[in-house]
Amino acid sequence: MAKIYLLDVTNRDGVQTSRICLSKLQKTMVNLYLSQMGVFQSEFGFPVTHHETNYLNANLALAKKGAFGSMRLSGWLRAIPSDVKLAFKLVPLIKHFNLSISTSDQMIKHKFRGKLDHASVIEEMASAVKLAKKMGAKSIGVNAEDASRTDIDYLISFSQAAKEAGADRLRYCDTLGFDSPITIYERVKKLAEAIHLPIEIHCHNDLGMVVANSVCGAAAANDAGEDAYINTCINGMGERAGNADLVAVILAIKFSSGTRDKYVLDKKVNLKLAWKICKYASYAFGIPIPINQPGVGTNAFAHESGIHADGALKDRRNYELYDFEDLGRGEPETVDTGRKITTGEYSGIKGFRNVYEKLEIKFHDDKEAAKILELVRYGNVHNQKSLTESELMFIAKYPEIARKIMSVTP
Ligand SMILES: [Zn+2]
Repeated sequence: MAKIYLLDVTNRDGVQTSRICLSKLQKTMVNLYLSQMGVFQSEFGFPVTHHETNYLNANLALAKKGAFGSMRLSGWLRAIPSDVKLAFKLVPLIKHFNLSISTSDQMIKHKFRGKLDHASVIEEMASAVKLAKKMGAKSIGVNAEDASRTDIDYLISFSQAAKEAGADRLRYCDTLGFDSPITIYERVKKLAEAIHLPIEIHCHNDLGMVVANSVCGAAAANDAGEDAYINTCINGMGERAGNADLVAVILAIKFSSGTRDKYVLDKKVNLKLAWKICKYASYAFGIPIPINQPGVGTNAFAHESGIHADGALKDRRNYELYDFEDLGRGEPETVDTGRKITTGEYSGIKGFRNVYEKLEIKFHDDKEAAKILELVRYGNVHNQKSLTESELMFIAKYPEIARKIMSVTP
């Protein structure tokens, strides 16, 4: 039976967004949280962008050590042979890719402006896919940018050519959020039935329909007998109005009347991590979680008006579709209101030791402690905010990899 998998693009679409930044250490933590959450694949960055090189290679080294379990790390490239060549030169161990090219009349005419036409878009994409496979790519998704505004017959020809060149998945990009749940269902169904390839659903929220479109697109692929990979971002970040929110997508598939008994979400997905990952991303982005955010917003389980409060207290199912415990909520969070020692760019060894003792991490000797302290100081320089407990633990566990991640030399 066809299933729905999650392919998170926070570390690519999320961070390429205006005013949204993550440090390389924060991107690494996002990968770790995503793997704990059972996400199938993290699109972890841009292999031809030089300031990503150390981060990407270091994260592939972490993957080799088993830090991400079975989660795949994949790079985003333009579907052109020169990008493929450069990617393997800069990030030799990379194995998974998405190769992207625009397919709509709008973009072919007004973006490429005569440099490429419909036929040469297919040729360029096919030669990039073939080269990537030849150079050692294990899996390739081909992205049809602006697929929702692409003539469906051309989209099918493009996708067939991608499959013949060796692509493993086709990414249907609703780049501008132009689809509605009904149109994306119809178009993806037709596409999946014609090409018999797993489909990635990549949607944007410009018209406020991103989660509904993502789920309906995935349902269409499954109904055509093909696996679906929904592209998500933590807290719904992403270009302009954002991508499909990771947690809302999981909730929609698991609890909606239209999907819960009909479609199968990857069994590895662990919603219990939701609270932790959303809180971390919010802190790292420096962007609060909206009060009315599905599942993780402050009001997601709050009741005040008489009838609602009374109903929720009598039986939570009166006014709650799912339980806060399902999202890893409900544990008290303690905040020190007295003396608190923190670590920072200018910390010394005594305060540093105090912080790590509270995390129950011990060092073999003073030399090791001094080395980790130095890295923690750099971590603060790198993030420009206090490190979280998970970041402090990461640095202590993988000091040499952390050093590489934080090395950004212009
Ligand atoms: Zn996008």
